[in-house]
Amino acid sequence: RLGVLGDWDNPYLTMDFKTEADIMRALGDIYKNGYLYQGSKPVHWCVDCGSALAEAEVEYEDVNSPAIDVGFKVVNKSLASSKFSVKIENTDHSTNFDGDIYAVIWTTTPWTLPANQAVSVNANLTYDLIKTSRGVLILAHDLAEATLARYGEVGAKVLGSCQGSDLETLALQHPFDKRQVPIICGDHVTIDAGTGLVHTAAAHGNDDWLVMKANFPNEKPRILMGGDGKFFNSDLVEFEAIRGLTRQEANKVILAAMTESGVLLASARLNHSFPHCWRHKTPLMQLATHQWFIGMYEQDAVGISLREYANKAVDATEFFPSWGRARLEAMIKNRPDWCVSRQRNWGVPMPFFVHKETGDPHPQTAELLEAAALLIEARGVEAWFSLDGAAFLATHEALNAADYKKVTYTLDVWFDSGATHAAVL
Ligand SMILES: [Zn+2]
Repeated sequence: RLGVLGDWDNPYLTMDFKTEADIMRALGDIYKNGYLYQGSKPVHWCVDCGSALAEAEVEYEDVNSPAIDVGFKVVNKSLASSKFSVKIENTDHSTNFDGDIYAVIWTTTPWTLPANQAVSVNANLTYDLIKTSRGVLILAHDLAEATLARYGEVGAKVLGSCQGSDLETLALQHPFDKRQVPIICGDHVTIDAGTGLVHTAAAHGNDDWLVMKANFPNEKPRILMGGDGKFFNSDLVEFEAIRGLTRQEANKVILAAMTESGVLLASARLNHSFPHCWRHKTPLMQLATHQWFIGMYEQDAVGISLREYANKAVDATEFFPSWGRARLEAMIKNRPDWCVSRQRNWGVPMPFFVHKETGDPHPQTAELLEAAALLIEARGVEAWFSLDGAAFLATHEALNAADYKKVTYTLDVWFDSGATHAAVL
């Protein structure tokens, strides 16, 4: 009487073994087309889930964070001065200065400073060299007044100015590690807030990851924190006092160390909107971990990316109502690569075997994946979780089987729903 029609004897059920197997096959097609890749890229990470989260699993709530200004000491003072056309030895005493030059960054996540790899500036912004009671500071011209007011500085004097692009490659001393880090240029640096110089840690932010990849394609993110939200107890962590600590604990230790060494130029508290886990309601972090991604820019055998296919499909679709088109277009245009792997004990497995050292998928992945799909079709996803990987590889006469191990990750549930067409139609 409601006019509802359905193929009631043949429903679509997500936990049908056939559906589970077809989800795997959809993943196999994406792999075969060359869109699937592995990498260490920052993702939303919940310490309580112990897993990456999808955008749709992220909620925003206000948190109160430390907001600090930190000086990265310029290693070569006279080189830096020359960028601003300022001579250190100047007979005109008005521009003379002693002491060190600091490139000043502003951050609300002090705990990410151990992972710092660079300080980013915008090539097209103007930067000032400013003599203050806290040393000689490099600040973006447009933010200098507000920044100095925040420090309570009066009588600061601008010694010289230059473009952000002039500062590129200038070496800076990390505020508490022994390392030196460079100044690099990136378009993500704006004058919305802060100092116009941005602390850059590829492990803890997508913009950071992208700008590091553009400048140093071979340099890996400094991953010093585990999925449990604690710093590793390893030599990778140069600043020993933070080993084994949580984010909140490390914030205190880092702030104390920087106060003592004099590089902490200002410290305040800030209320701001911050991503939280929708299940645990706890603050997330951006963390680079090993994950699998579907690349929106990767090209298939005929040189076409998924983004291009998707854009063409949108063009070829009629929308009711018509504004739906603009919405979908904007979504595809801005969509980053999709992190499809999850570290969960439930869900459809990613049925891959990877090399124990290189992590590369087995050369016979296409065949092995179909063999796994047949198994799941008969016995459901539990068959993969309980599978003896070595025996399975032996049965299917896989090459160099001893060098490969079973992947235990599962798929993002949004991949399951996205593969519905493949399983149902
Ligand atoms: Zn969670």
